[in-house]
Amino acid sequence: MEKYDIAIIGGGPAGIMAAIAASRTSRVILLEKNPSLGRKLLLTGGGRCNITNNKPIKQLLTFFNNKNFLKHSFYTFTNDDLFSLFDFDFIEEDDNRIFPETEKSIDVLNGLIDKLDDVVISYNFEVKKITEDFVINDCVKASKIIIATGGITYPQTGCSPDNYFLTSQPITDIRYGLAPLITKKDLSAIAGVTLNDVVISYNKNKVRGNVLFSHVGLTGPGIINLSNEISQVISYNLLDDEPVLDFEIAIDLCPGFTREQLQDRFSNEFQSRGKTHLKNYLKTFLTNSFIEYFLNESNLDGNLELSRINKKSKNRLIENLKRFTFEITGFNTDLAKVTIGGVDLKNVNPKTMESTVIHNLYFAGEALDLHGPTGGYNLKIAFSTGYLAGLSASEK
Ligand SMILES: Cc1cc2nc3c(=O)[nH]c(=O)nc-3n(C[C@H](O)[C@H](O)[C@H](O)COP(=O)(O)OP(=O)(O)OC[C@H]3O[C@@H](n4cnc5c(N)ncnc54)[C@H](O)[C@@H]3O)c2cc1C
Repeated sequence: MEKYDIAIIGGGPAGIMAAIAASRTSRVILLEKNPSLGRKLLLTGGGRCNITNNKPIKQLLTFFNNKNFLKHSFYTFTNDDLFSLFDFDFIEEDDNRIFPETEKSIDVLNGLIDKLDDVVISYNFEVKKITEDFVINDCVKASKIIIATGGITYPQTGCSPDNYFLTSQPITDIRYGLAPLITKKDLSAIAGVTLNDVVISYNKNKVRGNVLFSHVGLTGPGIINLSNEISQVISYNLLDDEPVLDFEIAIDLCPGFTREQLQDRFSNEFQSRGKTHLKNYLKTFLTNSFIEYFLNESNLDGNLELSRINKKSKNRLIENLKRFTFEITGFNTDLAKVTIGGVDLKNVNPKTMESTVIHNLYFAGEALDLHGPTGGYNLKIAFSTGYLAGLSASEK
């Protein structure tokens, strides 16, 4: 039987980072189910890897579902600590999103793998059993174990719900996160059209951002982020069942105006620009490629001159500009980017990532009940909690 100080299960960003930190002082083995490390990491940021988000830590923390839990790990392993591991620079894009200057996630993965010289890596090793005295699959024994097996989305990258049952550690409900939404209506006619900077709402949950129409529904950063809010409100657990969705979301197409402001403006301009056709007038408020669809759905004639629009039509126009609705029938589950839920944080020490239930067992990354919006926030979780778990496990 091979013996190690620390066995790390899962060679994604969290497990790799835990291995980098732990191997500075301990004998470490990294067990990975796939024939290679970091398969999901390679897909990140459309292959460009949005590696982290550069907001100041205090502000950054407000974007996560559990900022108190993450605080210590974020201060222990900062973005500067992360950047210092690589021999290339990083670029900052809008909303403080950070990418490698080479714009290739493979460079990030290779940069991390370069730091694993002192780690024994066992590929094609799927952990199926851990005994109470930390014997793994009857062949590896470790004094400490770090579980970094990720969530359940994109199973082709190595994730599996079976991992939640490797130990007796309590698990919260498991749900889809950062997922496009499927609409009841066919949106092929406007597939590819983007609505910039609109406000999307589901009940009381509101998100401001872009919406992109696809053949099967709605996507884009605004929708993807709203899906996290929806998943937390709707009651389901993927370990038992798939969610059944049937609800409405509303898009405020003109968040810069109140209903009253639109009312005033239309009252004036429908007179002063009376000969203008409605479809042309709407160019001030809507993306050109969306106007025809909007008018059809609103049952309004785009060729109508503004002075001829009656009060009822004007009210319908305002209502639809402020509250354009879509019926949602599901998450596009194949494209859900993260898992909401995981190892219950109530039973993990945020200062060390050690379980408070099972001594010498640690957790890191998406396996934990942690998630953030799109924009580099989820890799931030993986790297910071991975580093803290590796550091703590090797210190005691
Ligand atoms: C398409 C896509 C794009 C994304 N883009 C971004 C982005 O740009 N920025 C961002 O911040 N986040 C992004 N994310 C989210 C981010 O990739 C994840 O949050 C992150 O990879 C989680 O890291 P992890 O190490 O916890 O888990 P994972 O990356 O899932 O790694 C888990 C590893 O454990 C291995 N494993 C699982 N079970 C076992 C077992 N039983 N035995 C041995 N090994 C096992 C798996 O094979 C895998 O290698 C994206 C996700 C997807 C799907």
